[in-house]
Amino acid sequence: MGDSARARGLVAVLLGRFVRVRWGYRFRSRSRLEAWQRRRIRSFLRRDLPKAPFYAERTSATPRRARRLEALPVVGKSVLLEHFDGLNTRGVRLADALGVALEAEHTRDFRALVDGDVTVGLSSGTSGRRGAFLVSPRERMLWAGTVLGRMLDGPMLVRLVQPWRPPLRIAFFLRAGGNLYESVASSRVRFGFFDLTEPLEVHRRELARLTAAGHGPDILVAPASVLRALALADREGRDDRGMLDGGPGAASAARPFAPGLVISVAEVLEPDTAELIRSVWGAPLRQVYQATEGLLALTCEAGALHLNEESVHIEREWLDAEHTRFTPVVTDFDRRTQIIARYRLDDVLRVDPTAPERCACGRVSAVIAAVDGRHDAVLRLPHRDGRRLVDVFPDAVRQALMLGSESYADWRIRQRGLDVHLALDEPAADGAERAVAALEGLFERYECRATVVLDEWVEPDPGVKVRRIVHEEGVR
Ligand SMILES: [Zn+2]
Repeated sequence: MGDSARARGLVAVLLGRFVRVRWGYRFRSRSRLEAWQRRRIRSFLRRDLPKAPFYAERTSATPRRARRLEALPVVGKSVLLEHFDGLNTRGVRLADALGVALEAEHTRDFRALVDGDVTVGLSSGTSGRRGAFLVSPRERMLWAGTVLGRMLDGPMLVRLVQPWRPPLRIAFFLRAGGNLYESVASSRVRFGFFDLTEPLEVHRRELARLTAAGHGPDILVAPASVLRALALADREGRDDRGMLDGGPGAASAARPFAPGLVISVAEVLEPDTAELIRSVWGAPLRQVYQATEGLLALTCEAGALHLNEESVHIEREWLDAEHTRFTPVVTDFDRRTQIIARYRLDDVLRVDPTAPERCACGRVSAVIAAVDGRHDAVLRLPHRDGRRLVDVFPDAVRQALMLGSESYADWRIRQRGLDVHLALDEPAADGAERAVAALEGLFERYECRATVVLDEWVEPDPGVKVRRIVHEEGVR
């Protein structure tokens, strides 16, 4: 196949997915969706899975028709790294994939590929080894078709297909892996890529300059913590007009840019951050729960966070007897390059018990209340009786600290051993007292004991994923 035929084929994949996401996938009931998923999984098990040597060995004894998902082992990051070569269908070796990915992070040039056309993404492990993930051009197009199909509102969609109007401009703030996103670039969509290892202030000036020149972004895509920092800076800029930089863009400094849509990616979007973003920009805010492991959930027009069950099957490993939280075990039946079958993520998802079977948007895919963060965002503290440990989930910690939030600009929690270290940004006179009291009240309700230690606030490094709650290793 020639290059142009290949490119046309890929655009067709993108458009096909875009159309299906936008106007298709309308299931009459939850059971219809599940039946459709079962068919997709069956064909995935017969056709795609055996191409990976790891699964070929394990399934060859079972006739193709009798293969079942539940018979496969649940795998995690350690299996993925140990059997990397056998878990992909292109024969890519882990050493080669890591070499390309690390080089790209180092040079900030994300065009490097393995095996001709495969992109490598690294999972952002905060501790231990990082996972590597392979994505083919076809899979990138499916991703782009899904994100655009789900996120663009009516007027933006209309603009896309009117060639006489300016292209849709999307500003992407990312730490790495630009390749995945550049796949959507075309004459109708333009991407600005903002490298988060550079100071945010530089990017703000650039955004102000673009806006002044009439090329400001229509859509702003960034990790939640970066959206928060941009919104805060924007609000302050408005409070004391013209303080931005005094340069040529100073006249518009009070409003450096005004996105029409804001999309939060990569990190947990906390309620207070969402509120801040909405109040500063007044634009709709949508959330993409995206890991390198896959595109797992997206918010709909009605504001509900839907699991992306049109591409992934999610098993639930319950974490509590009441079935309010679970760890997702993911099977991605869209992916054929790196096989993601029964892959256990390191996240805690919280169910929404009030969600009806059919959302106001018309979808029947499952709705979750929130992504609570990684497992190590769960504090584990000794019960008063001293005989067991109690899990304190991050949403409870967030809620407690929100109570006093007018007394500090930001907060961070680290559990080290049995101590809970608290750091506050710009605390008011009573800030520390209120935050400590809020935490102690929370631990009291959970019937557990902990010593709260106050730490100095350290500005987070913009190149590193921000996590407000971390349980550092040590408690067993
Ligand atoms: Zn919905």
